[in-house]
Amino acid sequence: MPTSKISPYDVIIIGAGINGCCSAYSLAQAGLNVALIDQGGIASGGSGAAGAFISPKISKAGELKEIMSEAHVEALAFYTSHFPQFTLVKPLLHIANSPKEGEKVESFKRESHLKHSNIPHKIQTLLSDEALHSASIYFDMGAVVDAQGVCHAMAEGVDFYPMRVEQLTHADGLWEVGKLRSKHLVLAIGAYPKLLPIDYVGLRGIWGHRIDIETSTHIPCILHHHVSISPTTKEGIVAIGATHDVHYSPFLLEPYDVEQGRALLLEKASKTLKLNNINILNDYMGLRSGSNDYLPMLGNLVDAEATLEKFPHLRHGEKINPREFVYYPNLTMVNGSGGYGFVLAPYLSKRLQEHLTTDSSLNPLLSPSRFFQRWAKRK
Ligand SMILES: Cc1cc2nc3c(=O)[nH]c(=O)nc-3n(C[C@H](O)[C@H](O)[C@H](O)COP(=O)(O)OP(=O)(O)OC[C@H]3O[C@@H](n4cnc5c(N)ncnc54)[C@H](O)[C@@H]3O)c2cc1C
Repeated sequence: MPTSKISPYDVIIIGAGINGCCSAYSLAQAGLNVALIDQGGIASGGSGAAGAFISPKISKAGELKEIMSEAHVEALAFYTSHFPQFTLVKPLLHIANSPKEGEKVESFKRESHLKHSNIPHKIQTLLSDEALHSASIYFDMGAVVDAQGVCHAMAEGVDFYPMRVEQLTHADGLWEVGKLRSKHLVLAIGAYPKLLPIDYVGLRGIWGHRIDIETSTHIPCILHHHVSISPTTKEGIVAIGATHDVHYSPFLLEPYDVEQGRALLLEKASKTLKLNNINILNDYMGLRSGSNDYLPMLGNLVDAEATLEKFPHLRHGEKINPREFVYYPNLTMVNGSGGYGFVLAPYLSKRLQEHLTTDSSLNPLLSPSRFFQRWAKRK
């Protein structure tokens, strides 16, 4: 790690989860001088816990579906070509876990351009009656990546600083983070405290627990049902995950009941198929950071105080063109990926890289400031 006097970086990225690491990788590949910071090490947040499936989101037609489909196709190409050693490609069977989800699966099946076929007989013989008789879609190609391995590989060659950022200042056209300075700042801090007064950014943490197990049952493909059950890049290890708990928060410092989490995972997995001779090897837990409208976030941040001073009538519901708002200079947030951080990261970081290197504009639909106007009215 460099010490003494440090000349300014082009970009400082705070947060070395998949969003921070993939952004660092894309920006460094484009020739920018990047510093990456994390308080707990690379992939120490939600990303280190992820099962990291590169799976399509089964959703109904709309903006979210369009973005997720594009991101999924880009992610499959990205991981298999840039990080094949951390990527396991396998067929993927998605089974609906409720009648409502069954409807989504059926409509997705009708509209999807992704190659899918009938479930092979050898996989059918593994499945429970419930799984076999639920709506499902069998994709010829799915993938799962080694979450920690890929984040570390992406950060290789980038200056990494293990430190907790407490304060951000901007002076003379540069961001200052401790002794580091840069023109651009990227906030990729997941579900952690926001570092700036940006309460309008609609995010919530969703706790997840997954396990790695050994089992004598051979799992030939990636299975998504009540939980995911999948082979991994590590020979003989099967991943089961993950729980979705919107109530538990590690920030409240309550103890988390690991045994209860394990029991829940195994109980849910047993609804899909029977796993024999199970030996639990590892637990992984973390917070996903989900946006209130399920779309990810990539964009500049409104300086709420300065904007309300400029347009005090925003508080009374006056509509202002978001271009007129006051934004923090050269500051971009990438966040809100929910349970699809590994699917979305290549898509988001590619657009971030184009934005910072060619000044191309970012999709306003994804702007974290999309929540500002409504928040200002409620104040
Ligand atoms: C159990 C589980 C299973 C999942 N499975 C999948 C899956 O199969 N497929 C998929 O695509 N996604 C999956 N996800 C979701 C995915 O992991 C998240 O979307 C992704 O981790 C979000 O990455 P991030 O970089 O935004 O946040 P994080 O990984 O949380 O990274 C944020 C980082 O910022 C750092 N940080 C925050 N504040 C500061 C500060 N002040 N100073 C210094 N550092 C700071 C934190 O230490 C942290 O490392 C799963 C998540 C969980 C928890």
